[in-house]
Formats: sequence, structure tokens, C-alpha cells
Amino acid sequence: MNALAATNRNFRLASRLLGLDSKLEKSLLIPFREIKVECTIPKDDGTLATYVGFRIQHDNARGPMKGGIRYHPEVEPDEVNALAQLMTWKTAVAAIPYGGAKGGIGCNPRDLSKSELERLTRVFTQKIHDLIGIHTDVPAPDMGTNAQTMAWILDEYSKFHGHSPAVVTGKPIDLGGSLGREAATGRGVVYATEALLAEYEKSIKGMTFVIQGFGNVGSWASRLIHEKGGKVIAVSDITGALKNPNGIDIPELLKHKEATGSLKSFNGGDSMDPNELLVHECDVLIPCALGGVLNRENAADVKAKFIIEAANHPTDPEADEILSKKGVIILPDIYANAGGVTVSYFEWVQNIQGFMWDEEKVNQELKKYMTKAFHNIKNMCQSHDCNLRMGAFTLGVNRVARATILRGWEA
Ligand code: GLU
Repeated sequence: MNALAATNRNFRLASRLLGLDSKLEKSLLIPFREIKVECTIPKDDGTLATYVGFRIQHDNARGPMKGGIRYHPEVEPDEVNALAQLMTWKTAVAAIPYGGAKGGIGCNPRDLSKSELERLTRVFTQKIHDLIGIHTDVPAPDMGTNAQTMAWILDEYSKFHGHSPAVVTGKPIDLGGSLGREAATGRGVVYATEALLAEYEKSIKGMTFVIQGFGNVGSWASRLIHEKGGKVIAVSDITGALKNPNGIDIPELLKHKEATGSLKSFNGGDSMDPNELLVHECDVLIPCALGGVLNRENAADVKAKFIIEAANHPTDPEADEILSKKGVIILPDIYANAGGVTVSYFEWVQNIQGFMWDEEKVNQELKKYMTKAFHNIKNMCQSHDCNLRMGAFTLGVNRVARATILRGWEA
């Protein structure tokens, strides 16, 4: 099942639990607008190269559409569509006043120089600048993009519309970015994990963690788990995987990765097969990379007791079923990784107010939003007698449906 079919399936299950009208269901499912643009740039060697860029704006009933821009070879319309839809439910679960969108360019950013990436980002922005905006659609970083990418979008957008820092979030601090935004998704994952473990009278301290993905989200989550006394016993990224049953020294690994750009040849652990990592013995598994990594091939072998979905849709529906039969507790993506977009919201608010919060306030507010959302999800689980994924989906879908009806929907 591809990402879109899987996301639509979860939406429909939630819609049935909520008893939504089938016409409303159809209108909530179909994206508001799908944009596909050609992006041709001169490469550094003078030859031309053409890439395809997308922005799918899913829903705006609760506010401006919001979501990241991904640079990755697997960016294609169905995947972006699924991710845009997930943003709509995610912003609703987090109770922030946004809809959902997602964008991306099918490219491998590792194969492009910095100046090629800049040209590509500027061309993409030229093609979509009329369709994004502070109160329309606000992009942010995602896989393969970062604060620098947002700075280029802001600069290009401002040539057409005047200086508008709130048109993107996840910007560099010097251009109006928020303190705490870079760490926010990973920090939110940790707050979400704490909220879940507290239900089982457990805490991060002393528990064992396996982290798949050591980019922005995985490395921040690992660092904070390590600081809280959790034992990160295995990590991986595209350069390889490593394990240490006594716990990896995360600050040392971060230094190593910073210096070498890779997890390879770190002497504080043994290398391992990255495919084995997902089924490694541990208390908590945190997938922080691509979608669909937990599927019917490996789900039955997963040994973790808890899975925290820091990535978007890492568990496909077949794996979901196998894992829930095994009694594995899954904290779903539309809640677990909502910390990034929540601090994006704080950044947008600060830009609009022309005022800057200190980092302590950002982190305190983030914790408040994550903890409240967890309790709202638990209430939905009780009302609808469902698991955490359906608790989160019914919470998000219900909020969007209510906003849509209030705006004047007539069934
Ligand atoms: N790309 C992140 C996500 O998938 C953040 C989006 C945002 O901040 O708008 O949630």
C-alpha cells in the first residue's frame, strides 16, 4: 500500500468512528490545490538540469496551510499528497491554527553543490510565490532542506512581495527564526515519549532506545534522551548503523559526525546491519527517517515495547496490525513529531508580533502543547474505544470537520 492509500485508509477509519457524512468525508480528503512546476537551473558546469517541484495544499479550514519542503529523490505526487494530508491532521492534533500542506523537489541534495541548491530553491520559489503567503501557506524545512533553504525562499519571495519574514518558518535566527526551532521536532518527540511512558508509570531514565535516522530529528532526540538518562543502544543513518549495549556516548557521536559527516569508524560502538536495527532488542524504537520502514517484512520481528513515530508514516497499515496484535504501543506520527510545526507556529507568531521569545519560553510552551495534545488523544481513545493512532486521527479529523461545518458546510 503506498503512502497515500495508507493515509486515506486511516482517515476513513477515523471518519467512520466519528460518523462523518460521506460528502464531508470526500471534501476533507481531496486536496485544496495541487501545484506541479518545472524547475530548470544551470549546473555549475554550465549544463542545464530540470527537476520537478510540488506543493500540495491540503486544507485551510483551521488557518493558513502549513508544512515542510522536502528535497529527496523519492519526492512524487502521492507521497507529497499523503504528507500534506498528515499535516492537516497534525496541526489540528497540536491545536495550532493552521491547515496542512507539503512540498518538495525530486532531487538528491547530496549531488548538488550549495550554489546549485540555491538556484534550484530560487527557481522553485519564483514558480510558487503567488500561491504561498503569511496567511495562505507557510513552508518550513523537511528532509533535505534546512534554515539556509528557508533564507533563500524568504529572500526570493521578498523580491515580489516585500520583506515578509513570516512567509517561512525554520529560518536562521538572524532572519527572524525562533530560538529552539532547530531542536523542536526532536524535543517534541522526547516530551511525547515522556507523556506516553508516564501512563505506564515509567520514565526515560534507564530505558533502552534504538533510533533510526541521525539527521536533525534523530540526533536531537538522541541527545535529549541521553541527557535524561536514557540509554541509546543503537543508531543508524544513511552512512551506516552502530550499536553499544551499554549505551552510546551521544555527545561524542555528535562530535564524530560533525567532524567526519558519517557514523562510520566511531570507536564507541560496533557497526551493525541497518536492517537489523529496527528489530533490535530494546524498550523504545524511534524511527526518525523515511516512511514505510516498518512493514510486513519486519513487523513480526520487532522487539520494542513502544514505538515513537518521529518520522512521517514509518509504519504501514499491515505492520500496524501485526504490531498491535503483538501488544506494541505505537505513538503516531501526527502527534509524536508535531513539535516542529508547533515551534514553527511560535516563530510565525513572534514574526507577526515583531517580538522575540527566549528559548526557555519556547520549550515551556512546546511542553504545554505536547502534554495537552496527549491528554486530548487519550480522551478520544476512551470515547471511541480505539488505539492511539485512531485517537489522534479522530481528534485531528474532528477538529477540521467542525471548522469546515462552522464555515458553512451544508450536507
Ligand atoms: N516538516 C515538519 C513536519 O513534517 C515541520 C513542518 C512545519 O514546521 O511547518 O512536521
